[in-house]
Amino acid sequence: MIEDLFQKVKLRMGEEPVRKGGTKVSMPSDLLFKCPRCQKAVFREDFEKNGKVCTECGYHARITAQERLKITVDNLSFTEYDKEMKSLNPLGFQGYEEKLQQLSKATGLREAVITGECTIQGQRCVIGIMDSHFMMASMGSVVGEKITRAFEMATEKKLPIVIFTASGGARMQEGMVSLMQMAKTSAAAARHSAAGLLYLTVLTDPTTGGVTASFASLGDIILAEPKVLVGFAGRRVIENTIRQRLPDDFQSAEFLQEHGFVDAIVSRAQMRDALGWLLKIHCKGECAGA
Ligand SMILES: [Zn+2]
Repeated sequence: MIEDLFQKVKLRMGEEPVRKGGTKVSMPSDLLFKCPRCQKAVFREDFEKNGKVCTECGYHARITAQERLKITVDNLSFTEYDKEMKSLNPLGFQGYEEKLQQLSKATGLREAVITGECTIQGQRCVIGIMDSHFMMASMGSVVGEKITRAFEMATEKKLPIVIFTASGGARMQEGMVSLMQMAKTSAAAARHSAAGLLYLTVLTDPTTGGVTASFASLGDIILAEPKVLVGFAGRRVIENTIRQRLPDDFQSAEFLQEHGFVDAIVSRAQMRDALGWLLKIHCKGECAGA
């Protein structure tokens, strides 16, 4: 009896239980996905097939840049820019280089954004995708430089640009160098705009801090995935500063749409069609099918 109880505790702790005689009972630990919003357990296979969107409540889980690329661009159409670019440690911040190395190993990325050229439903464009799995996609010198170069390449080639934003803000390990990226990326976006070219922003979870305060807010058309967090400072910081309680849905994409900051909320399943259509109706020639 005590042995049974011990096995149950082991199961709860996520360890594999062992039967009498030493044979292990196999328990697939990743069979179910527990949705953090509706708290329901759904089959992981269904959740993954649904583009990591909860089949019960429509919760859009964070996905990697590679996963985003796969569901957005035409097959084999992507050519990456600045693949090898990686951060230095401008302030000599202790442990920063090791952290970058570890993350690079864990995610297969060198930095928190991938940029390049592709077609979406046959329309040529430059694309940037930020990945929150890499240091919460904070913007340091490399993220800023890659985004800037993507804008410059789009301006030179007279192509529209699509950027999927996600960020925890400026990268504190790079201090002032991070903050300078806000001005640099914004200036590049302005030059692209002055050339009469289209910039589409897609806000994904979470888009905050210096990225919201620079290129994420500058799109000609700003789309967002449902219920994502978009803001500058965190809720608690604002509440403590203004000494007022904020509305419950404050900093959600829906709240921002109501207040005119976001143009449309588009589900993950419809994003590719929406982008393809927007690119097509704004196309002036250079972006027509490759
Ligand atoms: Zn759910």
